[in-house]
Formats: sequence, structure tokens, C-alpha cells
Amino acid sequence: MITFNHFFPREIKALVSDRSLDFRLNQGAELTKRQKEYLSAQLKAPVLGLALLRQIHGARVFSVNPENLKRPLSVEEGDALITASASVLIGVRVADCLPIFVYDPRKAAIGIIHAGWKGTRQNIVTKVIEMMNQDFGTDPRDLKVAFGPCIRSCCYEVGREFQEFFPEDTALSQEKYFFDLAGANQRQWLAAGVKPEQINDCRVCTCCDKNYFSYRREGETAGRMIAAMVNFAPLKAMGVEDSRVGAYNEDSLKKDFQKQ
Ligand SMILES: [Zn+2]
Repeated sequence: MITFNHFFPREIKALVSDRSLDFRLNQGAELTKRQKEYLSAQLKAPVLGLALLRQIHGARVFSVNPENLKRPLSVEEGDALITASASVLIGVRVADCLPIFVYDPRKAAIGIIHAGWKGTRQNIVTKVIEMMNQDFGTDPRDLKVAFGPCIRSCCYEVGREFQEFFPEDTALSQEKYFFDLAGANQRQWLAAGVKPEQINDCRVCTCCDKNYFSYRREGETAGRMIAAMVNFAPLKAMGVEDSRVGAYNEDSLKKDFQKQ
């Protein structure tokens, strides 16, 4: 498992699971008991649910708020989630694609992105920044960004057409083309105005490191890692250290704590 506790402030939790548990979801897209237990243990808070989308390798961004959390989000198509709601756990599933975590400390907003080459080509990073700006007033110069594990250019052999798609991030080596997925995404954040020192990359290659599921290494049967993120900040202000997380809004959470 990878966390970014050293990079984000204490109230922001961001993690990527490893192959110790498969996060491919069931039809209903509900988390299994074991998956909830895993996340609860990692986050040190009881996880009730996780806002996930039906991922389509596109560039649609979904903004999670207390209103739309009342219905299942798993019917929504998209590859990025943003929210300014406290204690709402948002996630994407990955197995070689790049999970990206975003934090706006000024607006207390977070975002999570499933970036494969298709989403990257459609500039999903820019779409996320635009929507965070529209919904929360985010200024990209404030953002802190973290890259989870993904397939790296050591293993990501691609077709010749990538030279046209990503000229600066496709390298030719011994007549083979290799794509730097994280590099292409880094370029987009920098172009949007994010400071280089505010981007943290774990640098793990899912295809090299057998602790992780890899679609390239394992094919169709590969499991999925979960990348998940939550902001506990306003709960801290309420004097609650360890709280519940999940598909919950702050008011119902407050009520729950008052009951206890
Ligand atoms: Zn590799």
C-alpha cells in the first residue's frame, strides 16, 4: 500500500491499495465487507461507503455533493471525482492507469483522477482544474498533486501513433516506442500553473513491481487496486478525531455524533 501522509497535511488521507485485496467491484458496485474493513483499517475510521464512478477512459469529471450522494453514483460515467464535502471518501480503480490525488488547501477541496492514455489525451487534468475552479473557486497555483503507482515508461510499450499523440513523452528505444504516462500528466499540471515542488510522484511501476496488479503483466484477469481520498478537516474542527467516512454528508454525520 502507498500513502501520501508525508506530503499531504494530516487531515487529508490518500492511499492506493496493493494486490493483497482485489477491488474489482460487483454488479451493484457496493463495497464488500472485506473491502470496507480494509479501507477502515487503513484510514483508522469506519468506512461506510465510497463514491465511485463507472470508469470509461474518458475525461468526464463528477462533482460530489451532499445532494447527489443520496443516490448511487456508480451509475454515473466518469473518470474523476471532486468534492469539497468533508468526510466523503472518493475513489477510482486502477491496474496500470495512473491514479492522481489533488488537494486545494485554500478551498478545502479534493479530487481523484483515473488517468489512462485516453483520458490523458483528452486532457482530464485540465477538465478537473476547470471544474474545481467553477465549483469551488480553485486557483491551480494553490494545488498539491500526488501520483500513485502506474505503468511507467520502462514497461509501457505502445504503438507508433503515440509519437503523434504525445510527442514529448514517447521515446523510441531499439525500434520500440515507450510512453511516459506520468510524465505526460506532469506536463499538464505544470502547464496549468501548478508549482513543480507541489507535485509528488511515488515513482512505482505497477508492471515492474509485483506487489501491484498490472493489466499489462497479467492481462484480462488482473485485479484492481483502489485509490481513495478523504478530507477529515471540518470534523477536526468539530473536535472529532477519528470519524466515520463514506457516502455521507456533514449534517448527518454531526447528528450521528450528537446521538452517541
Ligand atoms: Zn516497469
